[in-house]
Amino acid sequence: MKDSFQYIFRFCCDPGFNDVRETEALMRLCEEAKIDDVCVFANVEELNTGHMTYEEQEIWLRLMRSLAKRLSRKGISLSVNQWHSVMHADLGKALPARQPFRRMVDPFGNEAKLCICPLCAEWQRYIGGLYARYAALDASILWVEDDFRLHNHDPLIWGGCFCDEHMRLYSRKAGKTLSREEFVSGVLRPGQPHPYRKIWLDTARDTMLSAAQAIADAVRQVNPAVKIGLMSSVPQIHAAEGRDWRALLSTLAAGQPPVCRVHLPAYQEMAPGSYLTRFHTVSMLCASLLPEGTEIYPELENYPYSLLSKSRRFTRFQLLSALPMNLRGMTLDLYDLNGNGIVEADGYEAMLRQTKPFLNRMQKTGAFRGKRLGVRVLVSPRSSYTLHTSKGQSMEELYPQDAFFGGLLPALGIPFAYTTDPDMANETVAVAGQVLRNYTEEQIESLFRKNRVLLNGDAAETLLDLGLGRLAGIRSLRWMPQNGGEYTYEESLPGTEYRGREHVRASAVISASDAVCVDYAPEAEMREFTSFFDSFRRRTAPGQTLANGRVMIFPFGHMEDVMALPPMLLSAARQEILQDMLLCAGAAVPMTESAPYLIPYCFETADARWVYLVNGSLDDAENAPLRLPWAIKKSLSWDASAAGAQVEMRIGQRLNVFLPSMEAMLIRLEK
Ligand SMILES: [Zn+2]
Repeated sequence: MKDSFQYIFRFCCDPGFNDVRETEALMRLCEEAKIDDVCVFANVEELNTGHMTYEEQEIWLRLMRSLAKRLSRKGISLSVNQWHSVMHADLGKALPARQPFRRMVDPFGNEAKLCICPLCAEWQRYIGGLYARYAALDASILWVEDDFRLHNHDPLIWGGCFCDEHMRLYSRKAGKTLSREEFVSGVLRPGQPHPYRKIWLDTARDTMLSAAQAIADAVRQVNPAVKIGLMSSVPQIHAAEGRDWRALLSTLAAGQPPVCRVHLPAYQEMAPGSYLTRFHTVSMLCASLLPEGTEIYPELENYPYSLLSKSRRFTRFQLLSALPMNLRGMTLDLYDLNGNGIVEADGYEAMLRQTKPFLNRMQKTGAFRGKRLGVRVLVSPRSSYTLHTSKGQSMEELYPQDAFFGGLLPALGIPFAYTTDPDMANETVAVAGQVLRNYTEEQIESLFRKNRVLLNGDAAETLLDLGLGRLAGIRSLRWMPQNGGEYTYEESLPGTEYRGREHVRASAVISASDAVCVDYAPEAEMREFTSFFDSFRRRTAPGQTLANGRVMIFPFGHMEDVMALPPMLLSAARQEILQDMLLCAGAAVPMTESAPYLIPYCFETADARWVYLVNGSLDDAENAPLRLPWAIKKSLSWDASAAGAQVEMRIGQRLNVFLPSMEAMLIRLEK
């Protein structure tokens, strides 16, 4: 009987070198770390010989068959980590003459030596053949590696594919013979997207679907039941290759439940608070784009593999903090991929064993399968089709900025949930980047009419560009460049008090971002929460503003990194001010006050509301107030990952939370 929360251990050994020893080490580890599934690497990383032959595959198949037998006696399943599809990178290797696959070509015409064009029919037959042979094993999941993508194939610049065959396809769709240069400059043209943008994204989409179909068909001819899982990377980057998550996962699933290894964005240890921001902008965004019912097993990895990369404690923190994605389990990639094998001295086993009962208990509550509550962060899987580039020089300009508030809000103690549905009512909706370009005028008007809306600078500019500034009371705006001298801090208005001060200041210089100076329409009813000031204490522009009681402007924008936040935006004063503005607009969501990186994730099930708290600070949360928008009934209960965690009732709709650093707790509030 497998646990509610499954550990999938990714296992590497080098057959003929250390497979006998490592098989014994694996059996010990499975016992001690409570592993449910062993995912065996084939032809991996340092030991990768290129696109392996079927003869080479036989070595891995033999290993897998023998492991499957031993593992099944312990009730542990086997899955397959075929390490290459398109191939991650050339790494100094080249295709041999016996593999006449078409190679991938980048936007500048550079041709890879080993990475292939996923539309190559010869390669599709070959990869199908590899998977058909895996399908004959008694396996739970056949994984497709995250090199199954068009971007990131070193030494290519950005990625592909712009091979001659792809150029013929683009030319046919465009109705004229295109050079790479002409096509790429059309794809990236600033302003209104050129028709080549859609040709690129549609073709990239279809290219990957065609390769996925080849794998799925080959597997299903042999085995109707085995699941096919997809390992994935950063969703904003996949957007620039037109990834259609639903179509891709469904194609690969081929009648079975879709399975996805969502990327966890920290191969090395980092400050837990910063990690959580990346977790929200990358992992949670990815999870929100997957088809309903997808089994999620994220990627926990400590590349390049040792306690020097990542501690046991941080590894445990990643397990605890990933739960709100509603997981089936976690993949664990903890040791070298060079054939060194399992390193008992690293001591991950005890941590995994000790953490598992809490993970199982959390799964059994069903809380994470409930409806997510919080500010709705609007994202679109089609943003790369509609966004306007600014320079038109690089593929990176196609990465959508929609998820900005998914990073900012939780860092400031405000729960959020991504949504791809603009047709909602009675919600507080956070809108960033150019996501509004994906909707009709009627949809946008309805969004503003039926909801409270929070806009960042880019979203305000987009609204105005669409001719709909009136919905936010905006007449015009202009950008103030960061460090251009026009603003160095925001200051709150007289008569308000934040952080125990009147006229509280939040810095906005050096490590902030550009900001918009908004000219509000005279008839708009404005409440300014902050104003921008320059170094000479002169007020230069309105700052955070509530318009007509329902539209909030958070004036910062032009973010450079889709995964991280400008550090200056994270300030305790801004946390209080933004929370206050949301409350004044009528947002009814729980919020954690004052404790940094005490992240609330909220869910609703038939009989209860749930708040899962993760402490991403290196300090313990002591006496941290959790403000609830609901009356608290007597039956309040909680379960925590660590001793010392506690919840106390306070007067009004407030709880007091004690939660040790890097630990988590689930609070249940009966409805
Ligand atoms: Zn190609």
